[in-house]
Formats: sequence, C-alpha cells, structure tokens
Amino acid sequence: MKEITIVGGGLAGLALGIGLRNYNVPCVLYEKNKYPRHRVCGEFISGVSKNTLKRLGLLETLSDCCSVPRVKWFIKNRKIFEMDFDSKGMGISRHSLDRMLAELFVAKGGKIINKRYESDHNKEGLVSAVGKSLNNGGKWIGLSMHLKGTNIMDLEMHSGIHGYVGLSPVEDEKINLTGLFFKNPKVRGRGKNLLFEYLNSVGLT
Ligand SMILES: Cc1cc2nc3c(=O)[nH]c(=O)nc-3n(C[C@H](O)[C@H](O)[C@H](O)COP(=O)(O)OP(=O)(O)OC[C@H]3O[C@@H](n4cnc5c(N)ncnc54)[C@H](O)[C@@H]3O)c2cc1C
Repeated sequence: MKEITIVGGGLAGLALGIGLRNYNVPCVLYEKNKYPRHRVCGEFISGVSKNTLKRLGLLETLSDCCSVPRVKWFIKNRKIFEMDFDSKGMGISRHSLDRMLAELFVAKGGKIINKRYESDHNKEGLVSAVGKSLNNGGKWIGLSMHLKGTNIMDLEMHSGIHGYVGLSPVEDEKINLTGLFFKNPKVRGRGKNLLFEYLNSVGLT
C-alpha cells in the first residue's frame, strides 16, 4: 500500500494519522515542533460523540479528561446565560492531548518526523494539516495561559469590547484562560503580561 504523508501534527493531522493506522495504512507525519508543546487554544472539547472517539480508538485515551457540565456566559461580570451541555464537554490541555495523540499514532505504527516540511504540499499522497496561524498578520490575536488556585468547574465565556475570554478546567486542577482580541497596537507586553493588558483593554479585569 502506498504511504500517506501528513504535514502537521495538530488535532487534524494526528486524528487522521490514527484513523489511517487503524486500517494499517502506512503513514508518516511531519511536525515542525517537538511534543509536548503548549498551544493557544481554549482546550475545551464538545460535540464529539463517544462513537467517534471509540472509532478512532481515543475513548480510553480521553477517559481521564476533566468533565465540564455547563456553560455560563457573562458580559462584564454579569451572567446573562447558563446552560447544561446535552453531553458533557471535556477539558484537557493541548500539551497533554497532542502528546497523547502522537504517542497513540506511534504505538499504532505511525512514524513522526520532527521537522518542518518544506517541499511541495500538492504532491500525490500528501495531506496538508498545517492549521491556520492566527498571530501572523491577521486582525485578531489569540492568547492563552494556565491558572492555578481558581475553582472553575464549568466553561465560562466572558465578552468584552472587541474581545472575549473563555475559562475552563483542564488537568492537574489548572484552569485554561484563553482570549481572542481585536489587535490593538497600543496594547503592549510579553507573555502573560500581554494577556493581562488585553484583558484590561477590553474591559475584562
Ligand atoms: C484562541 C483560540 C481558542 C480555541 N479554542 C478551542 C477550544 O476550546 N476547543 C476546540 O475544539 N478548538 C479550539 N480552537 C480551535 C483549535 O485550536 C483548532 O481547531 C485546531 O487546533 C485545528 O487543528 P489543526 O490540526 O487543523 O491545526 P493545528 O492544531 O494548528 O496544527 C497544525 C500543526 O501543523 C504544524 N505545522 C505547520 N506547518 C508545518 C510544516 N510546514 N511542517 C510541519 N509541521 C507544520 C504546526 O506546528 C501544528 O502543530 C481555538 C482556536 C483559537 C485560535
């Protein structure tokens, strides 16, 4: 059988790789970064049926995820909406999730090459799963951090002016705080300071 090349070892590339390996399709995956690594992501999973996870062989891998029963929406600290999920959401960091998926892919016989793929993405037998870089010249900026010592069990969405943040639990009693903000050249800082500055600028502190 002809080998499939997957470029990009995020959720799409790894899930595809695992799916192909379930049918013994030879598969090599290029990922430019080394696992585990952090990603800008809300790290909240919903709308994936148990059947899909089972079919991909991921049900056991994801069985220890935090269970997230409810979503709450706030505008400037005022709760405007609250709802139970039909089926509970899951919280897991991309640091853990991508590593677990990569390990599962390799355990099933897939091969990972930790290298940026530079050649033709249109060649036969190649699937490009390189995602979309938000922080490269676009109008929006995404920023994430993990917090400890905050007791949040649900998905909380907080809307501000030209931006919003989500908070939800992940493993090790950590909370993911992720914001998506309309870029503002007046907002400056690095790392978590930049996130705090953006929270300030959209009125969410
Ligand atoms: C602010 C924000 C919050 C989000 N919150 C959530 C959430 O709570 N829940 C949710 O389900 N989704 C969320 N998402 C969306 C989620 O992050 C994406 O849907 C998901 O990451 C897409 O997966 P992907 O595999 O297509 O891309 P990615 O996860 O971006 O993976 C692409 C991979 O390709 C690699 N790559 C790129 N170019 C090359 C190359 N040339 N050679 C080798 N490797 C390469 C990259 O290193 C990367 O690992 C959020 C997104 C943003 C921006």
